[in-house]
Amino acid sequence: MGTARALDSDVESFLAAPLRRMLVDGRWVEAASGRTFETVNPATGEALARVAEGDAEDIDRAVRAARRAFDDGEWPRMAPRDRERILARVVELIERHAAALAQLETLDNGKAIAESASVDIPAAADTFRYYAGWVNKMSGETLPSAPDFFTFTLREPVGVCGQIIPWNFPLLMAAWKLAPALACGNTVVLKPAEQTPLSALRLGELLLEAGVPRGVVNIVPGFGPTAGAALVRHPLVDKVAFTGSTEVGKEIHRASADTLKRISLELGGKSPNIVFADADIDSAVRGALMGVFFNQGEVCCAGTRLLVESSLHDRFAEALAAAARGMKQGPGLDPETQIGPLVSAEQLERVTGYLELGLREGATPLAGGGRNLAAGLERGYFVQPTVFTGVRNDMRIAREEIFGPVVAVMPFRDEEDAVLQGNDTTYGLAAGVWTRDVSRAHRIARALRAGTVWVNCYNVFDVSAPFGGYKESGYGRELGRQCLDLYTQTKSVWLRV
Ligand code: ADP
Repeated sequence: MGTARALDSDVESFLAAPLRRMLVDGRWVEAASGRTFETVNPATGEALARVAEGDAEDIDRAVRAARRAFDDGEWPRMAPRDRERILARVVELIERHAAALAQLETLDNGKAIAESASVDIPAAADTFRYYAGWVNKMSGETLPSAPDFFTFTLREPVGVCGQIIPWNFPLLMAAWKLAPALACGNTVVLKPAEQTPLSALRLGELLLEAGVPRGVVNIVPGFGPTAGAALVRHPLVDKVAFTGSTEVGKEIHRASADTLKRISLELGGKSPNIVFADADIDSAVRGALMGVFFNQGEVCCAGTRLLVESSLHDRFAEALAAAARGMKQGPGLDPETQIGPLVSAEQLERVTGYLELGLREGATPLAGGGRNLAAGLERGYFVQPTVFTGVRNDMRIAREEIFGPVVAVMPFRDEEDAVLQGNDTTYGLAAGVWTRDVSRAHRIARALRAGTVWVNCYNVFDVSAPFGGYKESGYGRELGRQCLDLYTQTKSVWLRV
């Protein structure tokens, strides 16, 4: 890591602790079982830190703390301006510690520091800022029921929220979950992904420092089938918000039925990115490249099915492959790195398995096609950015979410064919369209069954714009005003006048 800068002293001391504990009821505690697990630096395969491993017993303690904080505590009853002030302090603290948080995120997840510093951490701060602003803007209605009644609605928090997040944007996903839940007056038990628990634990320290009262946010690292499943089944949890694979999302949907929790699911995708021959080709190539290789392709809305108008297909695939070969792959801490390692050995195995499957299915790798074992990278989980051609939409590499730097380029005939192929998927998270024809852009944006459509851009986000899935990509919308619906419920009150 020759060009990497030295670690921030905050990060060094955070990692030097013999054990990172979990946050339950305002205190940092070991697991009830005393068990621990290691989190690994994916650039080297070496252990980064040892973390307390929560299971059902710890989840129970955390849920009871959150329950007390909700039922009897000050958070849901606080004057809005005070809750807003505390959330604004969270923003300040994230911004003050931004450099250290970016390093911690890169060490734990692998992603390029250029991205964690310019996307993950600022967007996490923006999310808290935006929802802090909503605290005193949520209101009920008065209703024209009848002359002898005064009828109105109260918008109340849902209660105790169990939030389960993935490893691809660890701090940002924590912010997407926590900020709206807290703004609405809920209390939370957050379970970070077992691959990347560190930035959420650091955020927990900042939340306490900002003045979030004890028990309002509890953070229990641990594994899905133990800690995660216990959170979903716990009878004192009112709502579960989950971001992760469609497979686990279905499992959570089933498991939550017994206690009829409110659930919201942000799941996988196999998003079409559709390029017409009349597009601005240079910007479409750049957009297609970042649309699929941003964050090593570990992005639920990645544009993994690149549909290109037949007349442009070969030229476009060549240009994309050349750009992919030119990407600088290396350890995330190197400021020059554009594409880092995958998050874990398991993910490496999964993605390289799909590369082999692609070859068996008859696809051609125009760029990449395997693990990157260049000098210095051998011990990390690096996969070359891979561009497959010769793919049909019915092949498994075009249907299943790979969650790695792999794109399938496929031709289409005309607008109708583009929409048909674009929608020919069980998923519906996002889609892209590249064209200079404004009417066509509008037609296609309407015709695609996806929660987000990007025209002449890709992977663009803002906290004001709702994000979520159609079809098996889940339901519920995060970000924006719509997210408040996930974390509030409406009570009608009738008063005889
Ligand atoms: P991936 O396969 O990419 O790791 P997952 O959907 O398995 O994605 O993981 C996303 C999150 O869901 C993680 O925090 C993980 O621990 C959690 N999880 C996995 N399985 C379960 C489960 N059965 N119940 C609840 N949470 C789970």
